[in-house]
Amino acid sequence: MQPMMLLVLVMACDLAAGPRRVQRLGRLTALHPHGLLGAMTVSHRITHITGGGSDGWDLFRKARRMIAQGRPVIELTIGEHDIRTDPRILDAMDAAARGGHTGYAAVPGIPDLRAEIAARVTVQSGIETTPEEVLVVPGGQAGLFMAHHATCDVGDGALYIDPYYATYPGTIRGAGAVALPVEARARDGFVPRAADIEAAIAGFDGRMRSLLLNTPNNPTGAVYGREALDEIAELCTRRDLWLISDEVYEGQVWEGEHISPRALPGMAERTLVVGSMSKGHAMTGSRVGWIVGPGEAIAALEDLATHMTYGIPGFIQDAALEALRMGVGFETEVAAPFRRRRDIAARLLAAQQVVHAVPMQGAMYAFLDIRATGLDGEGFADRLLKERGIAVMPGESFGRAAAGHVRVALTVDDARLEHALGELLALAAQLARKRGSEPTPRTA
Ligand code: PMP
Repeated sequence: MQPMMLLVLVMACDLAAGPRRVQRLGRLTALHPHGLLGAMTVSHRITHITGGGSDGWDLFRKARRMIAQGRPVIELTIGEHDIRTDPRILDAMDAAARGGHTGYAAVPGIPDLRAEIAARVTVQSGIETTPEEVLVVPGGQAGLFMAHHATCDVGDGALYIDPYYATYPGTIRGAGAVALPVEARARDGFVPRAADIEAAIAGFDGRMRSLLLNTPNNPTGAVYGREALDEIAELCTRRDLWLISDEVYEGQVWEGEHISPRALPGMAERTLVVGSMSKGHAMTGSRVGWIVGPGEAIAALEDLATHMTYGIPGFIQDAALEALRMGVGFETEVAAPFRRRRDIAARLLAAQQVVHAVPMQGAMYAFLDIRATGLDGEGFADRLLKERGIAVMPGESFGRAAAGHVRVALTVDDARLEHALGELLALAAQLARKRGSEPTPRTA
């Protein structure tokens, strides 16, 4: 076949596959020196993760570029502590590595660490948990990815709550499942309603397999109460769904209490809890977390781990063990600055009327409703960065239900945070005033 004919054929096939695929091929071709015919394509499974569109991190990248150019930016985008990993944990890591723990480590996790996590989960949730029900994974993100691989087959439906942590839909799509959002409403404090989850199940023409919950919640800061969780648990049982419970912020609760849905009646057999050392122990870069679930599911996940990561470094696991053995007092210490800054934010917000805060019940963010400015989250975040050098995440990065909001990470020292919030509120007030003084547009 002539090259030109082949080109037309490929283009025709891709047009049939839809515009996204064409866009994707276009991008790959542009990168390849030999053009379309010489280009290698990557799998649909991977390109489909973000679908070629925005992954929600555009503003974050823009802020990082400005910082790289030497421009003064207060960065309140990602959930990264302003403290580093505690020296005692680093000492344990160093001693383990120098002591020879640098070879392959046990794939499901070293026995002591699995036992320590099991003991912790038993105490905190009240559900007796054995080491065989624990898999050590390279961070919460990998845990979420693996949990969806374990529960969903290709084409199955997997539910998640909108607003959501930015990687959720891509994580689900990466497992070959269909990512289905369920909106939680601002007027419900962003706590999902069982009836909306039911409606999403009814609206999906396929097998629904899982529901992903996150409490304390990123980005909204909501902590789900018992009533809401009981309803959701009942629904999961009735609809025979897996519950994937993202509890990476379990140690950062400012109001109410953290309830692990796995502890609710009948839920241990259908829940996979994803936990992490990142937030509670300021160990984001160590990439260590866990999945807790029924023994058979954990054994199957170990098989996945064997073929995916072949375990995580032994010296990191030793450091994680040391960190967990430092007890909850240490976690309270790590969480203390966020509690303090959340109080600072609450004080500043209470003194004005333009920006409304979603109740800050947990996690390390303030989630702010800026609709009174007349801008959406993206427009407001853009102006805040351009005009005041402050980078926050637009709500739209976290889903449709989060439109008109911005998320402020409470991850700089108190004085800088107070300054940044002051600037944010001043810009919001200026925009709201301007909006108020503009003549109301006439409608036809
Ligand atoms: N879930 C949520 C809700 C998060 O906010 C994050 C990180 N920001 C993760 C999971 C992943 O955390 P890690 O991989 O660092 O454990």
